[in-house]
Amino acid sequence: MASENEHQLGDFVKGRFLFIEETCKKGGRDLDEAVAEIKSECLRLAASPERRQIIEKKLFSGAVLPSSTLPDWVDKVFLEAMSRVLSPPGASPITNSSRNPCLAFESGRFNAKRQAATVFRPFFAGKKPAQWVMKDFPIIYRQCYGPEVAKTLTVEEIGPGRCRVTMNNHGLEKASVLDCSTAVGYLYGALEATGAKEPLVTHTTCGLIAGGRSGGPCVFELSWREEGGAK
Ligand SMILES: [Zn+2]
Repeated sequence: MASENEHQLGDFVKGRFLFIEETCKKGGRDLDEAVAEIKSECLRLAASPERRQIIEKKLFSGAVLPSSTLPDWVDKVFLEAMSRVLSPPGASPITNSSRNPCLAFESGRFNAKRQAATVFRPFFAGKKPAQWVMKDFPIIYRQCYGPEVAKTLTVEEIGPGRCRVTMNNHGLEKASVLDCSTAVGYLYGALEATGAKEPLVTHTTCGLIAGGRSGGPCVFELSWREEGGAK
């Protein structure tokens, strides 16, 4: 399986399990039942015996460490299964704005705030929002998506309390419109973790919508209120 894209996604997956736990607690749902449902959905989505075995062994054996590398498709399948099982009935699975959170958004937001306090603490502690977006987000992105994909990432400070993040995730197995909603949530959670006032994240252009046929990049606009300034 050397040709398979693997990245250090262990901590993200661990975070998803903690998010499932929190979501069940909030919604008064039985955790074991929800995990069993997510697992069977993952196995259904995995679509081949080899992949089903990886799901069993790598995802649900309780052996995911923060440093574990996992094939990108595992995270994609896990995210989709989780969104299907935990989204409230009738709720949209995706969002393009932090004003309309969906389950994938909340899972990204949860992970950012958790990582800010744990594994990625050095990248968050004492940072101002713009500083985090410009300097630290690219490092985290590179670590999770790999150096090749990270070359397509552009971060711009376009004014006080305004940044733009542009990424091109084409060809990345993990990429999906659901993953974009997670990115909206992650960026939003990161702004919260760096103390941004009234943060807003909008996914203004999505290159993956309609199956990614546009081939274009994904653009995320971030804004927040600067101290003493207008938003
Ligand atoms: Zn997108």
